[in-house]
Amino acid sequence: MSQFWSAMAKRAEPYVPGLQLEDEKIIKLNTNENPYPASPAVIAAIQQETANLQLYPSATADSLREQIAEAYQLSKEEVYVGNGSDEVLAFSFMAFFDQEHAIRFPNITYSFYPVYANLFNISYEEIPLNEDFTMPIESMFQAKGGVIFPNPNAPTGIYLELTAVEAVIVNNPNVVVIVDEAYIDFAGASAVELIRKYDNLLVIQTTSKSRSLAGLRVGLALGNPILIEGLMRIKDSINSYPLDRLALAGAQAAFADNAYFVKTTKQIITTREHVKAGLQALGFHVLPSQTNFVFATHPNYEASELYEQLFAKGILVRHFNKKPIDQYLRISIGTKTEMERFLESVKEIIATAER
Ligand SMILES: *Cc1c(COP(=O)(O)O)cnc(C)c1O
Repeated sequence: MSQFWSAMAKRAEPYVPGLQLEDEKIIKLNTNENPYPASPAVIAAIQQETANLQLYPSATADSLREQIAEAYQLSKEEVYVGNGSDEVLAFSFMAFFDQEHAIRFPNITYSFYPVYANLFNISYEEIPLNEDFTMPIESMFQAKGGVIFPNPNAPTGIYLELTAVEAVIVNNPNVVVIVDEAYIDFAGASAVELIRKYDNLLVIQTTSKSRSLAGLRVGLALGNPILIEGLMRIKDSINSYPLDRLALAGAQAAFADNAYFVKTTKQIITTREHVKAGLQALGFHVLPSQTNFVFATHPNYEASELYEQLFAKGILVRHFNKKPIDQYLRISIGTKTEMERFLESVKEIIATAER
């Protein structure tokens, strides 16, 4: 604490991201990055754009927004883009949630939500998930200040059917419902198809997971033009250019190259199911994941112990030391080769422990 900090800086309880180790020998399965590099078309577009770095980027990001609108059969006015979906989420809290009215989100969810709520002094209610980590959707109805949840949820990986998502939207007609679809491309139907039906729905997505662009920082929000205008008002009161020229060019190329995205996403889903079966064969309980990670626990081994032993073998996964998920490990899906090594290592650890 410093006397020089504002009340806001003092109040802040910053999010702690997963370790970013630069050691290339480590198999990094802790932050749900895509194991495949960005599409070659993305690299080419960024290279070309380096010729224009003396100029400010577009403040309205029209070409990228048009490209995204085309991909989702929307109009540019229904698309917002920002510096990673974390920034889009932060701006959304500022644009749609008020201090006096409590918002709701699940008690086990993306840990940035309480961070934003604290920072902006927005009160919140954490809705306890069911024992099996599914969401009790009626508890999300008639929220006073708004609702936010990821679908699929993180770190559980569990997907909520679109009919249930729609029920949450219908039962919150006077507040904004934000569906954070960071992992939707590895899952079922997106709520994007409901945007024209409900003016209180905001869908947030990212290029960080399914489009292999975590390092470029491009997130997006899709919703009614009035909601998008609300986000623009916040953006233009903070930073006219949250996306630089390279990010705009790269993200546009990523949305233009659908074939690459479809291919890598399919591969990750196939590997995920293989890893799930492999862990189950070793006695793990694995939640039904529709993401690029699995959330797993073993009845006979401490999760923190498995985490340490995997790390000693050069494999980094994520462990949240927080009840009731402290016996679970979150394992991002890497390449086929990486995941074979992961399964092999788990098998060795378990065999040694049994002796
Ligand atoms: C990864 C993730 C994000 C953040 O994505 P960025 O676009 O990289 O900021 C947002 N929400 C959830 C649930 C995530 O898992």
